Amino acid sequence: MTSGGQRSLHQAAVAQFQRAADLIDLEPRYREILSYPKNEIIVNFPVTLDDGSMKVFTGYRIQHNNILGPYKGGLRFHPKVDLDEVRALAAWMTFKTALGGIPFGGAKGGLTINPGDYSIDEMRRIVRRFTHALGSNIGPDHDIPAPDMGTSAETMDWVMDTYANISPPGFRQSVKGVVTGKSIACGGSVGREEATGRGVLYSLRHWCGEHDARLDDLSISVQGFGNVGGHFADLAAQAGCRIKAVADHTGTIVNTDGIDIPKLRRHVDETGGVAGFDMADKVDTEDLFRIETDVFVPAALENQLTLERAKVLSARVVVEAANGPTTREADEHLFANGVDVVPDILANSGGVIVSYFEWLQNKSARAWSFDDVDSRLRELMWVAHDRVVHALRRYDCTRRDAAYIVALDRIIDVYDRRGIFP
Ligand code: NAD
Repeated sequence: MTSGGQRSLHQAAVAQFQRAADLIDLEPRYREILSYPKNEIIVNFPVTLDDGSMKVFTGYRIQHNNILGPYKGGLRFHPKVDLDEVRALAAWMTFKTALGGIPFGGAKGGLTINPGDYSIDEMRRIVRRFTHALGSNIGPDHDIPAPDMGTSAETMDWVMDTYANISPPGFRQSVKGVVTGKSIACGGSVGREEATGRGVLYSLRHWCGEHDARLDDLSISVQGFGNVGGHFADLAAQAGCRIKAVADHTGTIVNTDGIDIPKLRRHVDETGGVAGFDMADKVDTEDLFRIETDVFVPAALENQLTLERAKVLSARVVVEAANGPTTREADEHLFANGVDVVPDILANSGGVIVSYFEWLQNKSARAWSFDDVDSRLRELMWVAHDRVVHALRRYDCTRRDAAYIVALDRIIDVYDRRGIFP
């Protein structure tokens, strides 16, 4: 518990998998193993800033589990990043990759930093020095970072280039797969940038199929208009959904007739946020949760959907594009009131699935077409959703519990066969 008696984020993440573990009567030794990260790497490194001064930054890389394959997970650059948050995010990655049926484990990294406070040149030096400090703790067959909040394809290009430069000359061309989410020019995959948002839409499509609902009948509110929320909103609007409300760190806007997403995109690109968009009304932060919509998509930070906010939510379904957006109390309230929650480890797995495709392309020095990427993404997400629905029926539990049961099945099967060293 934290000093205020609250569960820490990592404790909340452990509690989520333990609920599923209870349902399948998981052996204590596996509960124990999965409750801890395997490795916790903390690096402090100095960087010279543009004004000639020097600042020491603290970076994290938490490697939670690699029984299914190399550690895999994003790098988050945000002022609130701390060890506890990165531990939780790393654990979620282990269950997400297992559920997605891809041969990766789980990890996460981050820097406690507001990227907006630094120039591009400073950010390039910070990222390069962070990569150097991580050194052989990452690698294309060992631990493969990717973008998350505050990082982008540009960040990944810098990580890859730095890693290549500190590798022996004979290996420099074969280490592109040390990170995924790179620009296409540097070895990235078509479809990776929007893959998480696209996967969130596929999750909603699957839910519609289960509930005999039509995508183009749905109204949606979205919290977060960055990589995930922005692409999701765009694709959902193209599919005929009415996006009634969008919130980001600059404010919340509402247009009950539907927000023109391409125009909002241009406004955000020019001004840096949704505030001031003149084709929608500005409302208070809490109004985002009160507005009447069929679907709520949190695509920003953790713990945004609290009990108080869940109580006023009108949505029939919450599709968790962000990691850990719903508190345990809110989750219980939503379940008790018949509001479905498509959990993060399922709903936002499109990004890591296409990261896997990027890694395969790097290994084989080939580039897939968009149709190849998209059809395989859809197939893997469909299989994961179908398995979750099957577990849901079998165990009569929440969709989150069902998703963890599917992930645990896969992890435990491999532990049972491999045994625990020595
Ligand atoms: P991003 O940095 O591109 O965008 C974050 C968005 O959240 C921005 O629009 C920002 O303004 C908004 N935001 C920040 N604080 C807010 C607040 N207090 N209220 C409302 N909005 C706020 O980040 P992203 O990559 O889109 O990641 C968003 C979430 O999705 C995170 O939880 C991340 O872990 C998760 N996720 C990302 C990926 C990926 O491929 N990028 C994959 C899986 C999960």
